[in-house]
Amino acid sequence: MKFETRAIHDGQQPDAPTGAIVVPVYQTSTYQQEAVGRHRGYEYSRTDNPTRKALEVAIASLEEGKYGLAFASGVAATTAVFSLLQKGDHIIAGDDIYGGTYRLLEKVFTKWGIKTSYADIDNIDSFENAIQKDTKLIWTETPTNPLLKIVDIKKLSEIAHEKNILLAVDNTFASPYFQKPLLLGADIVVHSTTKYLAGHSDIIGGAIVTSDVKLYEDLKFYQNAAGAVPGPWDCWLVLRGIKTLALRMKEHEKNALYLADYLSRHSMIERVYYPGLKTYEQYELAKRQMDGFGGMISIELKGGFPAVEKFISGLKLFLLAESLGGVESLVCHPARMTHGSLPYDERMKRGIKDNLVRLSVGIENKIDLKNDLKNALSSL
Ligand SMILES: *Cc1c(COP(=O)(O)O)cnc(C)c1O
Repeated sequence: MKFETRAIHDGQQPDAPTGAIVVPVYQTSTYQQEAVGRHRGYEYSRTDNPTRKALEVAIASLEEGKYGLAFASGVAATTAVFSLLQKGDHIIAGDDIYGGTYRLLEKVFTKWGIKTSYADIDNIDSFENAIQKDTKLIWTETPTNPLLKIVDIKKLSEIAHEKNILLAVDNTFASPYFQKPLLLGADIVVHSTTKYLAGHSDIIGGAIVTSDVKLYEDLKFYQNAAGAVPGPWDCWLVLRGIKTLALRMKEHEKNALYLADYLSRHSMIERVYYPGLKTYEQYELAKRQMDGFGGMISIELKGGFPAVEKFISGLKLFLLAESLGGVESLVCHPARMTHGSLPYDERMKRGIKDNLVRLSVGIENKIDLKNDLKNALSSL
C-alpha cells in the first residue's frame, strides 16, 4: 500500500478488546500475568507498551524498514546508535550535523573511549579518506542542519559496506515522506520525532528504524536496558501527527519552494540554501535521492549580525525558537541557538556564519508568510 494509507493504518488496527478506532493511550506501567512466566506480550512498560508498539510499527512502515524503536528524544535515539560501539571504536560523522549530536560525540562518548572524525560534507571522498581500522560507524544527516547540504546516501553506503562499516542516516529534515535512506542502502535511520513526524511542536521524541534483525535486537536490548523510552501519551501524539504527515509535508514544501524563490531574488539576501532551487548546487542529487525538498530554508543576510537582529525582530509570523517541523513557521539563528555548543573556530570551518538564519516554513498561507519576510527585510 501507498505511504498515505500506511501512515493511517499500519500499526493502528482497531483495539482488539474494544474496537476503538484510535490506538488507546495505554497509561499503565505493568500488566497482569496469567501465570508465572505466562503473559500476553507485555510485562512492564519500559520493555514494551502497546501505544509505543503501535508507533514503532507505524514508523518502521513509513521508512519501509522491518523494525522500529521509539525513544524519549532524538538525542536518546542517537545515543542508542552510538552505544552499539565499544571502547576504542571510531565514528566518522559528516561535519554539518545537529549541534546536540556533536556535543554528544565530543562531550559524552569521548569519555568512553569512542573517537569521532568529521568528514567534509561537501566531498564524499573525505568519508572514505577518514576510514581507520577501528571505524565502525558512519553517521550523516541529509539534508544537513543548518546548511541543507545533500549527501549521496547510495554512494556513502557503498563506501561504508566495502569496509564492513555501518551507515546511519539522521532523516529528521526530510521525513520519510520525502526520503527513505534504508532503500538507498543505509543500515539505520534515526529521527527526532519532535520535528515533522509529530509535527505540532508539542512533544519531544525519537525513533530508530532498521531492517537488520541483529541490529534491531541489540538496539532493542539497549532501549530496555538504558531505559530512555517515551511515555504512551507522547507516542499517541506522534501517531496522531503521522496520520497527516503526507498532507503536511506537501504544504511545507509548497510554501518553502515559494519563499525560497522569493528570497533568492531579494537584494538583502546574500545566499539561499534550499535544495529545491534549480540553481542550488546539489539540486540534481536532491531530486534523484528525494521525493521532495522539504520545508527548511537557510539564508545569509547582507549586513552581518546587526541585520540578523533587525530582521528577526521585524518578523511577526515566524516565531523565534529552536526546533523545526511544526505547523507554525519558526526562525532561528544557528550560531547563537542550535549550534551554540560548537566552538567558534569549528563553527566558522563549517560555514555557520553569524549572518546565517534558518527558517522552518510552516503550513500557514504562503502569501502571509512572504509578506512577513518582506516586511522584516524592508527594515534593513
Ligand atoms: C532536533 C534534532 C535532533 C535531536 O532531537 P531531539 O528530539 O531534540 O532530542 C537530532 N537531529 C536533528 C537533525 C534534529 O533536528
